[in-house]
Amino acid sequence: MSRAPLPGARVEMPPRDTLARPLADLRISVIDRCNFRCPYCMPAEEYADDHEFLAKDERLRFEEIERIARAFVSLGVRKLRLTGGEPLLRRDLPELVRRLARIDGVADLALTTNGVLLPRFAAALKDAGLRRLTISLDTLDAATFRHLSGGRGEVDEVLAGIAAAERAGFAPLKLNCVVLRGVNDDQVLDLVARFRGSGHIVRFIEYMDVGTRNHWRREAVVPSTELKARIAARWPLRALQPNYTGEVARRYAFADGAGEIGFISSVSQPFCGDCSRARLSADGKLYTCLFARSGFDLRGPLRAGASDAELAALIAARWRQRADRYSERRAELRAGGTLEKVEMYTVGG
Ligand code: SAM
Ligand code: SF4
Ligand code: SF4
Repeated sequence: MSRAPLPGARVEMPPRDTLARPLADLRISVIDRCNFRCPYCMPAEEYADDHEFLAKDERLRFEEIERIARAFVSLGVRKLRLTGGEPLLRRDLPELVRRLARIDGVADLALTTNGVLLPRFAAALKDAGLRRLTISLDTLDAATFRHLSGGRGEVDEVLAGIAAAERAGFAPLKLNCVVLRGVNDDQVLDLVARFRGSGHIVRFIEYMDVGTRNHWRREAVVPSTELKARIAARWPLRALQPNYTGEVARRYAFADGAGEIGFISSVSQPFCGDCSRARLSADGKLYTCLFARSGFDLRGPLRAGASDAELAALIAARWRQRADRYSERRAELRAGGTLEKVEMYTVGG
């Protein structure tokens, strides 16, 4: 195990990687299982019901997640997001939210979910201290929704989840829509029409080549510029400034004042230069990129008795070595042959 910094040694806060990018936020995947089988993430033909996901004792316990989160916060991280798999499948998730919400220094605590279980959990999550919710919703069309959930979900369940989130006091919501050419790109205007003026922010995400099993094809990516032009032709848009450095979505306001939308263009306009995000998998590995080949184990040292300072030192040391910029190098790296990459549901997007 590496040693904690010597007393008096100067530790840069927050740590910066080899490209001078600070460590600023952490996504925590709490489970690798999901009640959906979205073809762009966990295709049903690759993940049968008897697929071997992590066993219970392989997953970090809540107290372990809390300790690692505290180590990240001690290094300057201020934003935490819970994700998965489907995070609401993790039993007693509000209890984890409660633990994370009381860490001094956490300025933002959010959750990304497919929304189906929100009618059951939204109020408890709010009560536990969750600040913000992002709900994934790719289409309003019932048949397309069934296809995009791998035959496991109904759009009405997600709409009920959105209503439950509103009742619990989460506002504004972010609604994530992954756009696939020939699948749901013709339904984008319906989504915009439905949520314009609601206060919620729909964000269109370019289909990414995460992992190795989602059959990604570049032709299925709808570049954000094309989508934005289609939307703006119906409802004129005006560009907005980012809320903060490193914000991944480009923001636009409706010129008529009916709110805003966003575009996450990781394929057509990569934003690696500002990427300050670390990801923790459910089994305690630190990933420094969504497209990383492997993670850096934190569970081993944690279970072997590492102190808080030692954990923080391990994380900082790993961050300082970071050189990832996959999306900027996509063409070159893909041309090099088959790539090993972590799957999306392991690191949570
Ligand atoms: N299960 C939750 C959900 O779907 O919201 C949380 C985990 S999911 C991996 C997080 C986000 O990643 C979702 O908004 C999902 O749409 C997005 N996502 C998954 N696979 C993707 C892909 N290949 N390209 C772009 N976004 C993807
Ligand atoms: Fe599950 Fe979310 Fe992946 Fe869909 S995107 S399969 S809901 S983890
Ligand atoms: Fe960050 Fe990796 Fe995505 Fe680039 S490709 S923005 S480094 S997660």
